[in-house]
Amino acid sequence: MSSEQRLIERVGRAFSCRAPGDLHVGIGDDAAVIRASRSADWVITTDAFIENVHFHFRGHPPKDAGYKALARATSDLAAKGAQPRFFLMNLALSRAGTGKWLDDFLAGMSEAARRFGLVLIGGDTTRSEYVAVNLTVLGSIAPGRSVLRSGARPGDAIFVSGTLGEATLGLRLMTLPSASRTRWKPLLQRHLRPEPRLKLGQALTRGGSASAMIDISDGLSTDLTHVCEASAVGARIYASQIPKVEVPPGLSRLKIDALQLALHGGDDYELLFTVPKRHADKVARAFRREPVRMIGSITREKKIVLVDAAGKSSPLTSQGWDPFR
Ligand SMILES: [Mg+2]
Repeated sequence: MSSEQRLIERVGRAFSCRAPGDLHVGIGDDAAVIRASRSADWVITTDAFIENVHFHFRGHPPKDAGYKALARATSDLAAKGAQPRFFLMNLALSRAGTGKWLDDFLAGMSEAARRFGLVLIGGDTTRSEYVAVNLTVLGSIAPGRSVLRSGARPGDAIFVSGTLGEATLGLRLMTLPSASRTRWKPLLQRHLRPEPRLKLGQALTRGGSASAMIDISDGLSTDLTHVCEASAVGARIYASQIPKVEVPPGLSRLKIDALQLALHGGDDYELLFTVPKRHADKVARAFRREPVRMIGSITREKKIVLVDAAGKSSPLTSQGWDPFR
């Protein structure tokens, strides 16, 4: 269990009480789910975006920072298959964060809000030594349809969307001089402007085929561990099946190991989901146009195993993003 996970459990224990009947999913998943009526559940999640932790004044264009702050929060709704509806924003601002920077930051966030279908309904503002943005995002979904982290069962196939490691590669490229950076714009964009997989998450929950789901925010090794721990299962994944970034020849001097990046790099906001074996072929066919790949299967034995290209198995430890390690 990661240091962050232990901290979350400690917080949960401090507030332990009998869950009310309309609480469908509480602390410990990507989002909470509350039964609102016979026709809908509310899916609620919150996310922090902090200066010098998640972004830097120097380096991150303010419009991109605003877009990313909301995209990150909304990705947890994608992992539940919810339709984004409303959001609340707490803005703690330093002096540097109140001028033109704020206008641009809000313009970028507004662009994201329009794209995802989110309406700002309130929040709070305060002064701070550094900029800290806290977002609470609400989505809706048909009752009982949201997919949890805890539903994976032995034998289920494991899928991921997209290409893993691109956002971390984009982050590495931020250190290059700005003239050479423009050449790698698509990779930089993966770091600066991630796209939550809302359509895919919704399609998977509508189809009822996914047994567990999570967004890959901390890295495949860490987020797969979250699913396995919540589901009390293990996993076997195949290195050759993992969709890795193709490092352009012009970047060979950075000595990037695409597999390590795909396994442990965070910030991709792709979806990791499991599907009962009998539906695996159907899902692979149905989402041919969405880039989804089967990378392995869930096992009864509670450990995560990586099988390399030569067929050799080794334990895979969680080495993704953990703020408290
Ligand atoms: Mg998440």
